Amino acid sequence: MAVRSVSELVEQGFEAVEKEILECTDCQLHETVSNKVISKGSKSPGVVFVGEAPGKNEDETGVPFCGRAGRNLDSMIEYMGLSGDDYAVINTIKCRPPKNRNPLKSEIRACKPFLEAQIELLGPKVIILLGNTAEKAFCNGEKLEWGVPKTVEGKYTLLKIYHPAALIYQRSRIEEQNALIDNNRHLWE
Ligand code: URA
Repeated sequence: MAVRSVSELVEQGFEAVEKEILECTDCQLHETVSNKVISKGSKSPGVVFVGEAPGKNEDETGVPFCGRAGRNLDSMIEYMGLSGDDYAVINTIKCRPPKNRNPLKSEIRACKPFLEAQIELLGPKVIILLGNTAEKAFCNGEKLEWGVPKTVEGKYTLLKIYHPAALIYQRSRIEEQNALIDNNRHLWE
């Protein structure tokens, strides 16, 4: 496995990080993907959404959150009142796990330098962790309460809310999610 320093990746900039992701063979997932899925949205966002892993549609297109969960994420973003320049969307890992299984710890670990470098380069004020996998990848085992922000001084504020896929069949969850958003509007408004 290549040893990647986050600071070196950051120093090289967005394009170099993208190239390293495209060339990465550090876990087995690269063997089965059609496309790596890197990011979408602003290059200097106030808010970054961190999802879990690419699904089938994302693997086919190389674009994060472009399927059904993506439509829910778009509705959420609209409810938050954000416009295109305000946010970016990335994932914990950049390759689709076969049959959409959960990412393995080793896969999350292998991809983590890319996640950290993306966050440093994007420099958001707020990081929205979409569900437990994003929390696991980002918080090194620390648990956050749903919808309770945690500020990392001098860096950013973390907020864990439900993954958009968890809202697909559950109207009551959408109402819960909207309440979590309403309680935290001051973070991005
Ligand atoms: N779910 C995710 O977590 N990420 C995507 O890009 C799509 C679905």
